[in-house]
Amino acid sequence: MALLIKNGEIVTAEARYFADIYVEDETITRIGKNLEVPAGSEVIDATDKLIFPGFIDPHVHIYLPFMATFAKDTHATASKAALIGGTTTFIEMCCPSRNDDALAGYKLWKQKAEGTSACDYAFHMAVTKFVAETEAQLREIVADGTTSFKIFLSYKNFFGVEDGELYQTLALAKELGVITTAHCENAELVSRLQAKLLAEGKTGAEWHEPSRPETVEAEGTTRFATFLETTGAEGYVVHLSCKPALDAARRAKMRGVKISVESVLPHFLLDKTLAEQPGVDGMKYIMSPPLRNKRNHDDLWAALSAGTIDTVGTDHCPFDLEQKELGAQKFTEIPNGLPGLEERVQLMWTHGVCTGRVDIPRVVDAMSTKAARLFGLYPRKGLIAAGSDADLVIFDPKWKGTLSVKTQHTNNNYNGFEGWPVEGRASVVTVRGKVQVRDGEFVGDPQRGRFLKRGTR
Ligand SMILES: [Zn+2]
Repeated sequence: MALLIKNGEIVTAEARYFADIYVEDETITRIGKNLEVPAGSEVIDATDKLIFPGFIDPHVHIYLPFMATFAKDTHATASKAALIGGTTTFIEMCCPSRNDDALAGYKLWKQKAEGTSACDYAFHMAVTKFVAETEAQLREIVADGTTSFKIFLSYKNFFGVEDGELYQTLALAKELGVITTAHCENAELVSRLQAKLLAEGKTGAEWHEPSRPETVEAEGTTRFATFLETTGAEGYVVHLSCKPALDAARRAKMRGVKISVESVLPHFLLDKTLAEQPGVDGMKYIMSPPLRNKRNHDDLWAALSAGTIDTVGTDHCPFDLEQKELGAQKFTEIPNGLPGLEERVQLMWTHGVCTGRVDIPRVVDAMSTKAARLFGLYPRKGLIAAGSDADLVIFDPKWKGTLSVKTQHTNNNYNGFEGWPVEGRASVVTVRGKVQVRDGEFVGDPQRGRFLKRGTR
């Protein structure tokens, strides 16, 4: 059915202007003032609202076997939570471990999402080992439209790769025109520090950060950049958390290395004192890289505003309180992760835009357009223009509310931002022309989401 959105202010990464948007089937077909449209079109009045291109979360975990358990969301729950928060596309980490077959893992992840997602989705393919069959399997996966890799320099013996495997992955990525995303921490240093702290009887959640200090992340970032520079491959640092790692990435950018940087909402807003709380309250906040000293926040905000940090994702990864308790005796056994897919846009609006730290077009760029460009979705996604998918967020900047586990849609029994006041909310969200959300509730087609095939460079 045709849809006319009138009287709203369109905000993209490049421009702000008042115009009507006309949507036929799945696509934006016309933008202009006082559009003449056929009788019978559904009309949405967007007076006093902002209209954004659907937001893209470039880093989420939905299906995830990790640390002897599984993350709590399904594609059904996560995709609705995403849409209610204004995210119309997410890119999920497909993460078979070193013990699994990569191609079988890829098929499993795809099958979990197929027909069960309410929003569109794609995958980053994790390369967790490089063995005889890896090259042929990765070629097949890229040919299927999954054109970004993920490598872990941390999580030794589970997800992590050795330097030789990193080199082989990047050389193949370069040849195939694929971008490689990387978790940058030095695995050897993390495992040595973990063993040392545990041997000293330092077993609580407060020791997680000291087991993977800022220097360890800076080393991983520097090494990744060096490997990119040497192979000529294009890379993307995920969830960068601190100034030393930021400095490493900035130096690499300045000397022309093809490296982009993502940070995630928790690293802008939360700090390590939360993980130092006793018992499960501290364990809720265990993620890697860990929440850092608060002094990093101003540097991250400034880098986001300047574009040194290219994108903002979430690393959404819900483990519930019972799962977190698995690490009650040893911080190394706490499942890593914090949910945030649903709250990302509201938190960025409240703490980035309302505080004046980042201007609105840069926020649209970091939360949608830049991810679309980097990961082969642009201009289909990340843009409001004739010919683009009609993924639209009609946003009410005046709305006020409070985040809580009681009202969230993410499948988890805590909210890391419990009680935080927020401003702004997506009042209508469309996925390829279909209204999926109205006034904070999912009202659409739970099977609307499609796997997005992406091209290579
Ligand atoms: Zn992640």
